[in-house]
Amino acid sequence: LTLGGVAACTDDDSDPAAAGGGSTRGGSGAGKVGVILPDTTTSQRWGTDDPKLLKAAFDAADVPVDIQNAQGDKAKFVQIAESMIAGGAKVLMTANLDSISGKTVIDKAKAAGVKTIDYDRLTLNGGANYYVSFDNVAVGKLQGEGLVKCLADKNVEKPLIADLNGSPSDHNATLFKVGYDSVLQQRYDDGSFLKGPDQSVTDWNNKEAGTVFAEMWKQTGKQIDGVLAANDGLGNAAIEILKKDKRNGVVPVTGQDATIQGLQNILAGDQCMTVYKEIKKEAQAAADLAIKLYRGEKPSAPQRMKDPESGGIVDAVLLPPTAIDKKNMNKVIKDGFVKKEAVCSGRF
Ligand code: BGC
Repeated sequence: LTLGGVAACTDDDSDPAAAGGGSTRGGSGAGKVGVILPDTTTSQRWGTDDPKLLKAAFDAADVPVDIQNAQGDKAKFVQIAESMIAGGAKVLMTANLDSISGKTVIDKAKAAGVKTIDYDRLTLNGGANYYVSFDNVAVGKLQGEGLVKCLADKNVEKPLIADLNGSPSDHNATLFKVGYDSVLQQRYDDGSFLKGPDQSVTDWNNKEAGTVFAEMWKQTGKQIDGVLAANDGLGNAAIEILKKDKRNGVVPVTGQDATIQGLQNILAGDQCMTVYKEIKKEAQAAADLAIKLYRGEKPSAPQRMKDPESGGIVDAVLLPPTAIDKKNMNKVIKDGFVKKEAVCSGRF
């Protein structure tokens, strides 16, 4: 049996080009769809995958779109929204930096008669018209199950688990945790796993994740056996610390987003798994809704999402995630999500 990771790099299937590009449309901002993404530092997706795939979806429908990134700055996030609304945007699609500034934006949009879509992250108390994301509890479950499997493969008995959670300001981080806790808690309860340090990383900041994990590592006397890291960036921060003690590859670490860095860490044996979310489908689903709203239609969405704070129900599209390890890494390459050369450069 060939190692799947190696197969991912040696297969001669040609890479389907990822969707992207297209002409720039629209002029002053009037009559556009406005999209605001949160940052470019917490995951490769926001600066690369989402803008490219969203633009392709709008271009294909010939609907003008203005995609901007708030660069991690909440004031800038609100300011971009204000200028889009003032410019006559018809629909606003946002992935918030927190629910407070997210709600400010949705309130302003509503007051101006602009339809709103929560993209990937639910704005608590926001009352957006639609929500498009993944089943984020399922994402967390895949992470928990992946970690359990990696520990079993390594025959670690009574492993001590550390959790590096995502940002408390991101409702997704809460949902991911519900998912992985549902897998891990039963093992703490039956004594087969030991609960170790469990901390959130403010704003998904990768640098802070390194500091947090270094402290966990020290405080446990370097006894951590498995790391539930909520995305590839946090996972990489933990791997960097483990490397200093040559414990990378020995201590399994999870991730999310199938970033190039995460996939390379998996191929190197330093990361146990990642979660692939087909952003092309997420972008397409969100664009489909936005395009209908832009044309004055009232689109329907197949699912419902409950806002746990307001109790309100938002019409939603929630897509299924996929766990990725060495064995099935080809899927993300075949899908055109990452290029084989980018993942395999200098490897195998
Ligand atoms: C997204 C993840 C991403 C994280 C950090 C979450 O809301 O769902 O894909 O890794 O934010 O940017």
